[in-house]
Amino acid sequence: MSLADRDRAALWHPYTQMLTAPAPVPISRAQGVYLYTEDGRKILDGISSWWVNIHGHSHPKLNEALAAQAREMEHVLFAGFTHRPAVELAERLLAILPRGMSRVFYSDNGSTAVEVALKLAFQYWENRGETRRTFIALHHAYHGDTVGAMSVSEDSPFTRPFAPMLFPVFRAHAPYCYRCPLGLDRATCQIDCLGDLEARLKESGDSAAAVLVEPMLQGAGGMIVWPAEFLAGVRRLCDRYGTLMIADEVLTGFGRTGKMFACEHAGVSPDIICLSKALTGGYLPMGATAGTAPIYEAFLSDDRGKTFFHGHSYTANPLACAVGLASLDLFREEGTLDRVCALEGRLRAGLEPLRKLDSVGDVRVIGGVGIVEMRTDHPGYLNDFGPRITAAALDRGLLLRPLGNVLYFMPPYAITPDETDWAIEQIADLLRVVSPNA
Ligand SMILES: *Cc1c(COP(=O)(O)O)cnc(C)c1O
Repeated sequence: MSLADRDRAALWHPYTQMLTAPAPVPISRAQGVYLYTEDGRKILDGISSWWVNIHGHSHPKLNEALAAQAREMEHVLFAGFTHRPAVELAERLLAILPRGMSRVFYSDNGSTAVEVALKLAFQYWENRGETRRTFIALHHAYHGDTVGAMSVSEDSPFTRPFAPMLFPVFRAHAPYCYRCPLGLDRATCQIDCLGDLEARLKESGDSAAAVLVEPMLQGAGGMIVWPAEFLAGVRRLCDRYGTLMIADEVLTGFGRTGKMFACEHAGVSPDIICLSKALTGGYLPMGATAGTAPIYEAFLSDDRGKTFFHGHSYTANPLACAVGLASLDLFREEGTLDRVCALEGRLRAGLEPLRKLDSVGDVRVIGGVGIVEMRTDHPGYLNDFGPRITAAALDRGLLLRPLGNVLYFMPPYAITPDETDWAIEQIADLLRVVSPNA
């Protein structure tokens, strides 16, 4: 039996309609920006293996850090105990995170990093004896697949079956200027969006525990790139209405938008920040949620009831921490942020000309992410432009997974200029032969 057949008999894949999906592609090796199939083909990883990889696959330095840590200690519990990799990684993160972050709380993935943020914000107000119990999130938001993270995510095909089990959230406009809900031009759209957020803050009275955003780049909701002024405005409004700001940087953290953290585009610091995905360079699952001193201090008490009772079996896994540290080293040794900057220029030069195609509605580039949104009357994840592009690109040795009618290219930063140009050429060709359904 082939591996794909054995897979079919034993497994259930994420985000996959098992009845109709094509057979999964067996990968036996991954190196740099390439995945190597069992039958000897190579595929350029154009989406960083679901947005996690940054330095390339099987990087010798990260491999060595992982092996060295495994020889010392694989895992120990993190309640009542500590270890060097966890402490060093927290210290290093606090040194580079937006100013004001005071403590790091580890978890296992992006969704749990968000759950921790929501629970911290909620209990922060409870511990202070104030009743702020609702959240404000944005349209097109995606914050993960656990129940709390789904609640703050926008209603979508992902969340719809679960709608009755989700908690209610106030929803404000995002500055999706290409599809401005009110048909306004770019500058006005953004001001109007902030007006809408302010209206939600007023509507919630003093009940908003926090405003939660994906700064600068809303990912799974359609790769929406913001004007930095909107992000600055979110901080301003949170201050004005005395509520907390949570930045979900699970996707944007570690250089993806061209800055180490997307909050830097507007020079703002949130009260709570969520990290995962590239935290370990794409090697191991790990989440981290950091908060300011006031957040941390609200939990300090003689009353044990005010403790943050949250934790996961693998909290602060030493293997993940060790690879995370080595990944941060690489940022210095390989000039990683400069690479992202060069990649951004190349993506812009290569993708902007695609605006001329009738089928293309918008082109957006931020950091290491290039986005082409196709014109269609049926925008959204279920537009089958996505699976059709995925299949056609795979035939050419390129891994792409458009979000419905929104195609994006998000390779590991380790990609070379020639490889980037090749991928853009494939994308341009594909757009000439595959178009979204009307
Ligand atoms: C991917 C993602 C998450 C969820 O992370 P997982 O590790 O997949 O649970 C949360 N927020 C954002 C912005 C993401 O892109």
